[in-house]
Amino acid sequence: MTETKTYPENKFWSLFEKQKVNKYRVGNSSYKQRIKKLNAVKKAVEFTYRDRIKQALHDDFKKPFTETDLTEIYPVVSEIKFAKKYLKSWLKKQKVKTPFSLIGSSSWYKYEPKGVCLIISPWNFPLNLTFGPLVSAIAAGNTVILKPSEMTPNISGVMAEIVKELFDENEVALVQGEVEVSQELLKLPFNHIFFTGSPAVGRIVMKSAAQHLTSVTLELGGKSPTIVDKSANIKSAAQKIAWGKFMNNGQICVSPDYLFIHEDIKADFVKEFKLQLNSFYSDDASMSQSYCRIVNEKHYTRLVEHIENAKQLKAKIDVGGQTDSRENYIEPTVISDLPDEASLLQEEIFGPILPVKTYAAMDEAITYINSKEKPLALYIYSKNKKIVNQIIDNTRAGSTCINNNVIQYSNHHLPFGGTNNSGIGKSHGIFGFQEFSNMRSVLKQHTKGSIELLFPPYNNLKQKIVDLTIKWF
Ligand code: NAD
Repeated sequence: MTETKTYPENKFWSLFEKQKVNKYRVGNSSYKQRIKKLNAVKKAVEFTYRDRIKQALHDDFKKPFTETDLTEIYPVVSEIKFAKKYLKSWLKKQKVKTPFSLIGSSSWYKYEPKGVCLIISPWNFPLNLTFGPLVSAIAAGNTVILKPSEMTPNISGVMAEIVKELFDENEVALVQGEVEVSQELLKLPFNHIFFTGSPAVGRIVMKSAAQHLTSVTLELGGKSPTIVDKSANIKSAAQKIAWGKFMNNGQICVSPDYLFIHEDIKADFVKEFKLQLNSFYSDDASMSQSYCRIVNEKHYTRLVEHIENAKQLKAKIDVGGQTDSRENYIEPTVISDLPDEASLLQEEIFGPILPVKTYAAMDEAITYINSKEKPLALYIYSKNKKIVNQIIDNTRAGSTCINNNVIQYSNHHLPFGGTNNSGIGKSHGIFGFQEFSNMRSVLKQHTKGSIELLFPPYNNLKQKIVDLTIKWF
């Protein structure tokens, strides 16, 4: 990293420099000091600001209050609880074994903070995906600049207030603004960038980071397939998929993007799916307090175009299809008989539309999935262990949930993240902490070591010792 280079022309240089000056103090903060900061964030999110957070998200895209508790407040609070439970052990020096060839020494590694970090977050879970990584960054001892999405301004405003109340800007700062703000920040030589968003912007972030050889975590998206095998419990699968697909109006990175179902059970599944939707959102989801809206007109129009494209291609609307531009409302929609060129099968949907494809043999589904980018999540509904293993062994994905969806995200013992197009690096628990840390190796020589025996000048005896070392140690 270009530690000495300055960027006075950059709008955020003075803020960046304040954090750079402060990074060793923050980096050397004790376990207790870090816990104090995490407790302050927890108190703000769980108590002081909780109602304002819920109102802000309702104002941004009519997000139901309970859904905010479940998918924004709870994930941040549980990430903090998890970090508090394990931080002491993460901060300990991690002793490792010494090979015989290095006799007389001992070795360990320690997690040291990366330094000044940038967190860029999306709008779909704005609190969770801004403060979640912040928890890992604080636990690891970093200073942080946060840049939330411009598309959810109400919650960004509340997060800015929280950060201002709890932190000095030389430690954690939040800057608001349009895409240009992110672009300006990305010119600076951060020690780490944690980005959550689309693969297209992920490429831009990685390119900028390359200028300074800044490490990156990219939490991206894409199309997450869901396979429903003939042996699956249809009612349970329909219920869970309806929940995972239409929560947050389908604007979830790990929501089931499209369905692959055995042709023999498709009709029964669609019938059951309608019943489940009815029980969640009544027969008119536009009147339901449990169904939120598309975030803005741009995304609403994008989704309506998907439905129009499907209609033009003579696809079958099995469920829904109604829209209302005054409210950015799209009814829960299920579409089948789509040709492969349909836009719904080409792009990440990120909305309440579920395309359904059928298969006769599992190989067809696997071949199709493997012809696409590696997904962030791949879901399997099946009672057949052999089928489950066949799918897992022959596909690649960031995560898999069997007989459920989305909830793999909330086990902090699991790494969360994608692979290639769906992401680089992992978050949550120790994996998030590691992402914001450098594993620094230390070897300490205690007594005279064996390596001294091999110092030049080389001779036959030394060659023999080298030969024995290669052979035996
Ligand atoms: P986005 O990529 O458009 O924007 C994300 C962030 O990048 C925003 O803060 C935005 O201001 C900034 N940004 C946008 N264009 C930029 C540019 N040209 N240069 C620099 N910064 C730029 O994503 P989004 O629409 O906010 O979110 C939806 C995407 O995020 C989906 O692809 C979804 O799958 C993905 N996502 C992934 C996860 C995950 O954990 N893997 C979670 C949520 C969303």
